[in-house]
Parts: sequence; C-alpha cells; structure tokens
Amino acid sequence: MKLICIGRNYAAHIEELQNERPAEPVVFIKPDSAVLPKEQDFYIPEFSNDVHYEVEVLVKIKKVGKHIATKFAHKYYDEISLGIDFTARDLQAKLKTKGLPWEKAKGFDGAAVIGEWMPKSNYKNLDKLRFSLIKNGEMAQQSDTSFMLWSIDELISHVSSYFMLKKGDILFTGTPSGVGKVEPNDYLEGILENDQLFAINVR
Ligand code: ZN
Repeated sequence: MKLICIGRNYAAHIEELQNERPAEPVVFIKPDSAVLPKEQDFYIPEFSNDVHYEVEVLVKIKKVGKHIATKFAHKYYDEISLGIDFTARDLQAKLKTKGLPWEKAKGFDGAAVIGEWMPKSNYKNLDKLRFSLIKNGEMAQQSDTSFMLWSIDELISHVSSYFMLKKGDILFTGTPSGVGKVEPNDYLEGILENDQLFAINVR
C-alpha cells in the first residue's frame, strides 16, 4: 500500500509558504510505515523542532487502475476520510533549498494520520466538502474542497498516469492554509462536515 500525497493544492496555503503556484500537481509518496497506528499518540521526532500539522481530505482507492480519465475517476473510490500529513518543516526547508527529495521530512514513522473512513455516498458534493482541524479546542484550519486547484477526480487522473493505483492506496489531496507547529500535549481533531474522523494526542 502506498500513500500518494499532493502538495500545493490550495492557493492560500501556497501563499502562506511563499511557494510558486505549480503548473501541474506536486506529487510525493509516503511509505506505508508512515501510517500512525490507530489509537496511538503522535510522537514528535527528535530530528525536528518544527513539525507542522496539515489536515487533508483522503481518498481510498478500491481497484487497480492506470491512465484513468477524469470522467471515470469516481469509479475508483467509494470511501473518503480526513487525515494529517505531518511535516518536519525545518528539515523540509533545508532539503528544498538544496533541491533534494522531501521524504525524510514527510515520510517518517507516524507522519500519516488516517481517520475513520466514510462512504462517499454520505456527502452530496465531493467538490464542496467542508473540513477543519481543531487544535486544543480551537479552529486551526478550515476550508472546503471547492478551493482545491485540482479536484479529487483530476488528481486521480493525473497521478494514475505516473503510478499504477492499487486497491488500498490512499490519496492525500493537499492542505489548505493555516498549517502550524505542534507541541507536546496538543490535542488535534479532524472534522469532515459534521463528523469527527480523528482525534490524536501529540507527545
Ligand atoms: Zn500535505
């Protein structure tokens, strides 16, 4: 199983990190060992002093596919969720300036939080899903999927022309603005429409 992640998919987040607006989706992969086991706390890794939360809408791929056309992409998933793409921002910044790959900053153990899966049929319009990250009881990130530069179906189409999608693969669709640092004892909750899909403690 692989985690396929999209960077820079919300204009406001691109601005807050002062990144360039990409001409096509920015794609990276996290290994399956990055998945934070259910019910486990997230431990800030020793190599970073600036780990950021990034809340993202997740899509679970249900069958094998390659070169999937956007109009058929909806046939490749039935479930969606919400997760966190934890990022060691200090390490990522260092790697970026040297033009090196981001994996150490994005793919470390526990760096992928995956919430409870929901049938997509629960939601009227996947291109207008409200979601948020609550940190210690306060709103930290809030957006909706209509602000994505590329929709879920467009992302599946794009990604599948480079990587064969397999059953169980998970797509992280990018984070909106409001990313920030986590501290020990933070409590993070992910809310999709009216459902809480994850709640984790930071250590
Ligand atoms: Zn991200």
